[in-house]
Amino acid sequence: MKPPASNKKDVSFVTQNSLCYSCGACSVCCAAEAISFKVTNSGLLHPVIDYKLCNSCGICLDVCPAYHDLEIFPDKYGLDNLAGQALCCFLGRSLDEKIFANSQSGGLVTETLSFLFESRLITSALVVKMDYAVTPKPEPLRVYSPEELFQSQKSFYAPVALLSALKDIEKMEGNLAMVGLPCHIHGLKSLVKVNQKLFGRIKYKLGLLCGGTLSFLASNYFSQRTKIKHRIIYRNKKYPNFEQAHVTLQLLNGQILVIPREQRFWLKEILTPPRCLLCADKMNLYADLVFGDPWGLPNYDQLNGDSVVISRTETGQKIANSLVRTGKVRLQKVNYDEIIKGQELAKRIKMALSCASVYKEIGLALPDSLSTITLPEPELTALRERIDLFLRLQERPLEDNLRLINRIILSKRWKQKITTFVSRLR
Ligand SMILES: Cc1cc2nc3c(=O)[nH]c(=O)nc-3n(C[C@H](O)[C@H](O)[C@H](O)COP(=O)(O)OP(=O)(O)OC[C@H]3O[C@@H](n4cnc5c(N)ncnc54)[C@H](O)[C@@H]3O)c2cc1C
Repeated sequence: MKPPASNKKDVSFVTQNSLCYSCGACSVCCAAEAISFKVTNSGLLHPVIDYKLCNSCGICLDVCPAYHDLEIFPDKYGLDNLAGQALCCFLGRSLDEKIFANSQSGGLVTETLSFLFESRLITSALVVKMDYAVTPKPEPLRVYSPEELFQSQKSFYAPVALLSALKDIEKMEGNLAMVGLPCHIHGLKSLVKVNQKLFGRIKYKLGLLCGGTLSFLASNYFSQRTKIKHRIIYRNKKYPNFEQAHVTLQLLNGQILVIPREQRFWLKEILTPPRCLLCADKMNLYADLVFGDPWGLPNYDQLNGDSVVISRTETGQKIANSLVRTGKVRLQKVNYDEIIKGQELAKRIKMALSCASVYKEIGLALPDSLSTITLPEPELTALRERIDLFLRLQERPLEDNLRLINRIILSKRWKQKITTFVSRLR
């Protein structure tokens, strides 16, 4: 349903301009409970307003961190300093074999949450899980004990409206921790601005480094391999190892279907939402502790995995120190510059600026801070085509889009086969 013409601008302005992060902040603030989330034809997760309930207050747009993007460019940090502050950095892993074996990299996110529970610093944590389903999707999950964390482990490369699970925060008791991508942490920062007392109860912000997520079309592409209930493991470090992890589908009977990792990389080229390309906060600037993969660092465990941890605040530093004292983790200090280099931050910032130029060229609105800086001249045919293709997906039925993605991946597989064949002949 369309908004009445006289309405104040709302969050539909954000979705219409391909700016939505899918963080969920808008739905938490909507007193009329008029906002729900729906998967779009291009596989994004967008807020949808029920205008029969909406009271046109506009708060959903006011709190949107994807539009009012918290002065990331350039006022606060300056263009050259989107690395943020790092008090201390570590490389390491959990020494709990169960947590480690089930983790994405070194299991340090889950070990940190377990520590917060065991030290009674939190009563619950907001994380993500993926249930078995024919087309599985990650969903927000509130957990109340370390044992429940098991189901939340690993990285889900799909949109999650995480903050929508805070709708009933008033009824929740005690302090919370939250694990989030930079967009989720931005959303939380925005909510704290609106109501410090309520949302300030999320005392521990555990962030993930983020190279962008994938539209649900990628999940649908993987899920075509089976018609029965399964979970998607987007990077399974046991098949064959951490460094070369393939995508796997885990069936209820224990069977594992393997999808070669290059297909995930190809999908990344097509199905990374433009909003992720426009985001320059790869390093999760506003979290207390940030976790990621150890790319670019010397001496990490290439077979079984390690995590990097960056403490950004005094709170984060205290947790890191306490974790070391528990003896449940193995951590060694590493240099932040090496982490930044390994994460190719400079490339990411360039991408964000180029993407902003394309947005401007095609007449899409930009987040506040990007709209006030000088952007590079658009010389970017490839990026423009990439964004155009993604935006066109929105106009077509989901099934047609999946057929198109299948065709693109098939042609890439043939190209790969021919290249391998030719290189063997040489
Ligand atoms: C979309 C995405 C992009 C990423 N990009 C990068 C990158 O470019 N570079 C890099 O170094 N690291 C990246 N990471 C982080 C990395 O994949 C690992 O999550 C990190 O190393 C922590 O691993 P762990 O073994 O300590 O976590 P685990 O113990 O396995 O726990 C994982 C935690 O992440 C949470 N989580 C998983 N998926 C999501 C999600 N979609 N939204 C919010 N929370 C989630 C889970 O709830 C769980 O608490 C990314 C993660 C995601 C989800």
